[in-house]
Amino acid sequence: HKYTKANIKQMAKDEDVKWIRLDFISTLGKMKRVEVPAYQLDNVLENKTMFDGSSIAGYVPIEASDLYLHPDLSTWMVIPWSDPDDKVARLICDVYKTDGTPFMGDPRNVLKHEMSKVKKDGYNTFNVGLEPEFFLFKRDENGKPTLKPNDKISYFDISPSDEGAKCRRDIARNLIKVGIHIEAAHHEVAPGQDEIDFRFSDAVNTADNIELFKEVAKHFAKKHGFYATFMPKPLNSVNGSGMHINMSLLKNGKNDFYDPKDKLQLSSDAYKFIGGILKHAKGFTALGNATVNSYKRLIPGFEAPVYIAWSPHNRTALVRVPSDRGIATRLELRSADLSSNPYMALTGALAAGLDGIKNDLQAEPQEERNIFKMNAKDRKAAHIDNLPSNLGDALKDLEKDSVLKDALGSHLLKAYVSLKRQDVLAYQCLVSDWERKHYLDV
Ligand code: GLN
Ligand code: MG
Ligand code: MG
Ligand code: MG
Repeated sequence: HKYTKANIKQMAKDEDVKWIRLDFISTLGKMKRVEVPAYQLDNVLENKTMFDGSSIAGYVPIEASDLYLHPDLSTWMVIPWSDPDDKVARLICDVYKTDGTPFMGDPRNVLKHEMSKVKKDGYNTFNVGLEPEFFLFKRDENGKPTLKPNDKISYFDISPSDEGAKCRRDIARNLIKVGIHIEAAHHEVAPGQDEIDFRFSDAVNTADNIELFKEVAKHFAKKHGFYATFMPKPLNSVNGSGMHINMSLLKNGKNDFYDPKDKLQLSSDAYKFIGGILKHAKGFTALGNATVNSYKRLIPGFEAPVYIAWSPHNRTALVRVPSDRGIATRLELRSADLSSNPYMALTGALAAGLDGIKNDLQAEPQEERNIFKMNAKDRKAAHIDNLPSNLGDALKDLEKDSVLKDALGSHLLKAYVSLKRQDVLAYQCLVSDWERKHYLDV
């Protein structure tokens, strides 16, 4: 929406809003929030909300820590699930420095900056639709989350007890209420696992929506007595949860990846974009798969990608081209999960694809075989490389990738890598029960 300050003041009054929550995005992709009483709205709209940037990991040092929140007026939203007698509205904010310039440690600013290149290159926008997957676990008698899935059913199944489906509908319904276009909601392959599909929108809007989705899912899961988790691989022997990224470029109001004359009805930009994604796939993994746990999902046999290849239909490839054409023509990048910072993941995917277009990178021949069934020799012959198998390696690949590094900018890159390295080290230092079980008697 294109709102003016006056529009927002009027809407706040008309709807009797009592609180304004100001959201912004941390380095790790968790939303941060400060709430101000509605009578402060003028101040908020004058960009006068200051905060201590040194208290956000990865932001700024304590010696120079003042930062300002500049609300993005297009994100105004009255929260329908807030108490009707104590109504809350939200604004997502961009973070600015005291000198009035954007703070490039804010991932949302970084994605906006990358999006400005899309326009410069002559496209209207970069559209993204996400498919977040998540588990609904039961809670114990004290309300504490367990690892017990709320049902025993699988893909597109219908449960005899409807509680999981009711919860999923509550999540989707409330997202629809605030104007988010939901395409579908369904049970996923693993017990207790669900998926809600978002229609494409420009990348910034999509990242905003996924941040909201995570909060809404947790909120309504709790109402139904469940616990929603976006952990990439919470259970050992069933599918993990991914977040497929469906991407397309819009040019002159048309889908730029669609070309009815091509054999696969894909444009040359689409092939080059795939080439860019494959070229930067390793470094991208550090953005799309942001925890040590992410790599336990990226193993053969669970519909998650392991190898760097693309295919029109094959779900064992990293990039798939779903069969819709016309305005719905898109490339599906299948590696990312919800532990990622969506702003950074989309910045990386876009930078990789644009690099492919700029440098005329051609996609390797498509792979039609089940890659999980190919041996190392076959894969080598087909030029199919592996994704990094752990977060430490992925971070090294990211630091070797000048295109992704440039897109993220030095502040965000350094802050992110150093926070993630702390996880890698902490995890490496930890001795697990599995090790004791297998090696105590060595
Ligand atoms: N859950 C699978 C993953 O980890 C995806 C399954 C699917 O959407 N077909 O990516
Ligand atoms: Mg799906
Ligand atoms: Mg799915
Ligand atoms: Mg998908």
